[in-house]
Amino acid sequence: MIAAKRVTLTFDNGPTPGVTEQVLDILSARKIHCTFFVLGKNLMSPGGRELAVRAQSEGHWIGNHSFTHSVPLGDRPDAEYARREIENTQELIGELAHPERFFRPMGGGGLLGPHLLSPAALDLLQAGKYTCVLWSSVPGDWKDQDGWIEKGIADVAARDWAVVVLHDVNNACLPRLTEFLDRLDSLQVEFRQDFPEDVVVTRRGEIVSPRISEIMA
Ligand SMILES: [Zn+2]
Repeated sequence: MIAAKRVTLTFDNGPTPGVTEQVLDILSARKIHCTFFVLGKNLMSPGGRELAVRAQSEGHWIGNHSFTHSVPLGDRPDAEYARREIENTQELIGELAHPERFFRPMGGGGLLGPHLLSPAALDLLQAGKYTCVLWSSVPGDWKDQDGWIEKGIADVAARDWAVVVLHDVNNACLPRLTEFLDRLDSLQVEFRQDFPEDVVVTRRGEIVSPRISEIMA
């Protein structure tokens, strides 16, 4: 017998009023728990924080995905930039944060590379005891609203435990999210909320992965 594939779903770049509610409804109906990697700027806009509160109250984990989601941290080495992007967002997340203090770097359309972190950003993640989480599947829901499902299913089928990046933003995964979850159900995957070791770079501030050298400027 072949062991079931495991899948951890993550939703980045929200919360987005009008979208995140529907994603939460879909997940709640299926009792699937995920992590929402939120943007600080979205927590400051109307309705944003309420959605993060709702997500957390429904059992999802809230992670930090930068404040502006503009220039990747590895492309701007100054410490002040890293501090603003990471710490200001963490302050806004406040008590909604998971104890592991999840942080996911941004940029590059899902490619791993030195654009993701600067040395100053890594210092900050270590000092702040963050758990830095990457991914193993980026199906591209924001750029290919139809094709992302096939890519996502292929990624899940290719690994024992995929960490899939989707986006709770406009014009991304929402229109076909139910169909994607139906397809995963038909593959009898095990939905997980935690992260496999191969996507974790720092755990509570300790560097646990040799991949740090791949993703730092
Ligand atoms: Zn992102």
